[in-house]
Amino acid sequence: MQGQRHAEIAGAGLAGLAMAAALGKRGWSVRVHERGHELREIGAGIMVWANGLAALESLGAREEATARAEPLQFWELFDERERLLQRDWMHPESNDLFGILRTDLHRALHNAALRAGAEIVTDSQVASAAADGTLTLRSGERLKADLVVGADGVNSRVRSTIGIPTRVRDLLDGCGRHLIPRRPTDIKGSVHEVWDGGRRVGIVPCTPDEVYVYMCCPIQDIEGREQTFARDTWIKSFPHLGDILERIPDGGRWASFADTKVETWSRGKVAVVGDAAHAMSPNLGQAACMAMCNAVALGQALDVTDNDVRKALEMWERSERPITDLTQRYSRFYGAIGTHWPRRLLTARSALVWGIARSPRLQRHINAAAYHTPSIDSRGASNGHAKTAVPA
Ligand SMILES: Cc1cc2nc3c(=O)[nH]c(=O)nc-3n(C[C@H](O)[C@H](O)[C@H](O)COP(=O)(O)OP(=O)(O)OC[C@H]3O[C@@H](n4cnc5c(N)ncnc54)[C@H](O)[C@@H]3O)c2cc1C
Repeated sequence: MQGQRHAEIAGAGLAGLAMAAALGKRGWSVRVHERGHELREIGAGIMVWANGLAALESLGAREEATARAEPLQFWELFDERERLLQRDWMHPESNDLFGILRTDLHRALHNAALRAGAEIVTDSQVASAAADGTLTLRSGERLKADLVVGADGVNSRVRSTIGIPTRVRDLLDGCGRHLIPRRPTDIKGSVHEVWDGGRRVGIVPCTPDEVYVYMCCPIQDIEGREQTFARDTWIKSFPHLGDILERIPDGGRWASFADTKVETWSRGKVAVVGDAAHAMSPNLGQAACMAMCNAVALGQALDVTDNDVRKALEMWERSERPITDLTQRYSRFYGAIGTHWPRRLLTARSALVWGIARSPRLQRHINAAAYHTPSIDSRGASNGHAKTAVPA
């Protein structure tokens, strides 16, 4: 009979809390270290697809996360001439895409982690990790664990100190995110994304009272990035969205997009999860969904290996990494078309997107992550993965 296994987790963002809930539910003792003074989630809204919802369900957090969220039936994309280019590209089936307030999602995962028995310590900064399962805090305290998880974001300290070779690639674009008060005339039950050159505005209803608006542009668009919000320049690009843009508050923060490419997801008894392992541009709304799925999948791999950490980590990466890498690539591709396309060729872009949206094969690939539910079995394969048609 095995004694109780113990995990130390760096970071109480969406990935760290999902990991804590997944391990706690399996009887592990879990401690999460958050460097912040309090737990908080930066950003406004978030889109959570079927795979993310299934992960939330399995962690016991779906009901709370979606209690006042908006189910979204369509994701509609319009070009600068207000033509509908696609509503099939990322076609949600009924009730499998939600617009959720970030704070609601974070709170639901926090509560799930607490219910699963996790201890969450704030003002606790991780300084380093070692492959033998040692986590060292900035205070100098050294903690031993059967499993250490780096869920400490794109600039992960855990990842760098265990020496996983990594390339963080600046995607040369980014976005501002805002919540605006909702009006009865605002869109219901769907996402509208509108493109004008390299600028994109997304409108996502996410509670009965709030609409989440994201505004993407390339890094060289200085006016677009301005976060004493340069309302006039955005209204000039999107005059028909004046009613929305006038409600954007001043201030806010422009987040740049980056891809993290790591050589491996683990070393010895240490794993990285979430943005620490696979940060990606948010164009497909998948980075957090995949982080939650991968946390669930690691729990499954520990189950089937009877908590043999090294075997489980190997099995986990072999099973879940292909779909994660593929999603990162498609997300980057979407950004390249949406943000970095030459202005003189916009008509060709509209034609290309219109064509892509009508290819069932491409749609299947672009949507692969959304319909991937990890279920690692004793052969080390995720059944969900086997169901999706994923190109090499
Ligand atoms: C504009 C934008 C829109 C997005 N939209 C979507 C979407 O619609 N759908 C979707 O699925 N994803 C979306 N994402 C992606 C998603 O937000 C991220 O993938 C997700 O939040 C990453 O969570 P994480 O826990 O891995 O990292 P983080 O959120 O970065 O959390 C890391 C945590 O670790 C803590 N930490 C860091 N270093 C240390 C340390 N040394 N010691 C202790 N604690 C530490 C930090 O304080 C933080 O709390 C979007 C991202 C952006 C930028």
